[in-house]
Amino acid sequence: MAKFTETGLTYDDVLLVPAYSDLQPGDADTTTRLTRSLNLRIPLISAAMDTVTEARMAVAMARQGGIGILHRNLSIEEQAQQIDLVKRSEAGMVTNPVTCSPDDTLADVERLCAHYRISGVPVTDDKGVLVGIVTNRDMRFETDQSRPVRDVMTPMPLVTAPVGVSRDEAFELLRSHKVEKLPLVDAGGRLRGLITVKDFTKSEQYPLATKDVNGRLVVGGAVGVAGDAEKRAMALLEAGADVIVVDIAHGHSQGMYEMVAKVKKNGAADVIAGNIATRAGAQALIDAGADAVKVGVGPGSICTTRVVAGVGAPQVTAIYEASLACRPAGVPVIGDGGLQYSGDIAKALAAGADTVMLGSLLAGCEESPGELIFINGKQYKSYRGMGSLGAMRNRERGGSYSKDRYSQSDVANESLLIPEGIEGQVPYRGPVAAVAHQLIGGLRQAMWYTGCRTVPEMHERGQLMPITAAGLTESHPHDIQMTVEAPNYHGR
Ligand code: IMP
Repeated sequence: MAKFTETGLTYDDVLLVPAYSDLQPGDADTTTRLTRSLNLRIPLISAAMDTVTEARMAVAMARQGGIGILHRNLSIEEQAQQIDLVKRSEAGMVTNPVTCSPDDTLADVERLCAHYRISGVPVTDDKGVLVGIVTNRDMRFETDQSRPVRDVMTPMPLVTAPVGVSRDEAFELLRSHKVEKLPLVDAGGRLRGLITVKDFTKSEQYPLATKDVNGRLVVGGAVGVAGDAEKRAMALLEAGADVIVVDIAHGHSQGMYEMVAKVKKNGAADVIAGNIATRAGAQALIDAGADAVKVGVGPGSICTTRVVAGVGAPQVTAIYEASLACRPAGVPVIGDGGLQYSGDIAKALAAGADTVMLGSLLAGCEESPGELIFINGKQYKSYRGMGSLGAMRNRERGGSYSKDRYSQSDVANESLLIPEGIEGQVPYRGPVAAVAHQLIGGLRQAMWYTGCRTVPEMHERGQLMPITAAGLTESHPHDIQMTVEAPNYHGR
């Protein structure tokens, strides 16, 4: 082994080389592989961080055609509940609808509706038999919230359909009866599912949405390798997670291999493993059975690993190295962290990534956790590393579930923690839909400039030219003071 490797390159070190093109940006197909068996229509994943991805972000990402990975800095029950929220949020059919009993009060139903952001619930008896439905409309003019549901619900007979009803038949029933909810029942009258009119209008609104075989939005959950990680993975799968992300800062390690094997043995879902930053690391995860490999040691905008530990690999080289092991094995590569602009997505794909995971580019979205912060009239949202003191301390929820990402779960005394991340804020950027539009728009422009119609063509033909510091200065706006904000550019 040579003492010194070749120089590593990152996004700012390279540019995509223009090439002959016979397509328009709109012709580019951004469909890509997330894992061995899951595809996405856009190559974007929201990071498993507590200031980036909870249920609201995961729903927004899946609607756009990407996916969100729910962070794990919360209890197993809370994280499983977040998965459940996403799986119920929009569907061809809700397989396990929220219900209430005829004896519940209207106040109980109000609480349920607010929690799940729904407008009404089927009413079932203690054997699960459908006895009625209660919706906003039934409750709107009720002043006494202590009244039982049985007094105000619309009782059976309701418009229902058998399990397995086709999409067209369901729509016709909703339309002809002018109802918004269609309960699905079995031969014994037991409630088996629910189809809502909202699901039809939403799928028209979100043509690229990432959905499972039942038409529900797809979501992933992060787990670690230590403590009750296996229990967590099983709870997430039970709640409906489509993919489990075994997520630690140093994935090229024995604990990672064992965890991947355990999850693969027990669950039907695909497993993403990471992070690594070398070809050998990628090969080890492939050998362990990973269905996708996540790349990135130290590129994150909030990350101090490369400074605190002096370890890492510039991200474009890391992605390329990992792809040398992953491509022949048919295992997709995820470029995690370090992306600042839409052009970096295109560079990541050309380097060999199939998808990218984003933290800072999404932390400022309306759908990320946390409130807006106003400073001097400008709007911000907080963003922090999962290895920051704040995330590893996490007092407000009674203990941190984040420490083991950095192999520090045994550190009991807070002052002895070695943080590998920082805490801060990023400018507010509006809804995910607008942000994703700009990011994917930039990628489409790149595909036009490089003459690549598909992501696999980006892998094969996207060529990267190393540039100098002067080249980078030339790349950014220069010799001008920017006076108007652009939706896809911020100064450096
Ligand atoms: P960003 O998109 O550049 O902000 O990077 C986000 C990525 O940084 C995440 O997906 C993680 O892989 C990584 N990350 C999150 N928290 C930390 C931390 O505290 N230290 C180091 N890396 C982190």
